Amino acid sequence: MAGIIAIVGRPNVGKSTLFNRLTGRREAIVDNTPGVTRDRIYAAAEWLDKSFTVVDTGGYTEGSSDDFESEIRKQARYAIDEAHVIILVVDGREGLSPLDEEVADQIRKSGKPHVLAVNKIDSPADDYVIADFLKLGFNDVFPISAVNGHGTGDLLDKVVGHL
Ligand code: GDP
Ligand code: MG
Repeated sequence: MAGIIAIVGRPNVGKSTLFNRLTGRREAIVDNTPGVTRDRIYAAAEWLDKSFTVVDTGGYTEGSSDDFESEIRKQARYAIDEAHVIILVVDGREGLSPLDEEVADQIRKSGKPHVLAVNKIDSPADDYVIADFLKLGFNDVFPISAVNGHGTGDLLDKVVGHL
């Protein structure tokens, strides 16, 4: 196996939509509503001459907001531990949240290669919103639309370069 690429981030930012786009699968459940318990989902993908495995995270459980957040942390931890490269996904329409900063922290501490995907930027005219996310301190920041594919080629070029 050439490598494992993990997609992490808080719920509803578009991780599963990105997973589906990268893998050409429809296995990940895309849903607006929290409350579905799922494990991580794996699928094979290729880009340029590289084959790799993509991991979608975000199985999370219903419960108090404390349980909810600790579950997200736990999922992120597992995914970061097993990954070779990590894609942190944030929601370009909602702006930065404290949970984004926490997961970014976990990723930086791992010392593994990582990139930031600012998702839901469906038009290149809105690429400027990545500026709001630069304070996360990631060197590589990509405006993307998991729905229509804007920016995902550039993202993948960078990610597979780390494999
Ligand atoms: P996850 O919880 O992070 O896995 O997020 P999902 O992939 O389930 O997506 C959550 C919601 O955001 C769904 O309604 C998606 O259709 C929507 N969404 C995901 N990516 C995009 C995008 O690039 N643009 C827009 N406009 N909506 C998106
Ligand atoms: Mg999901």
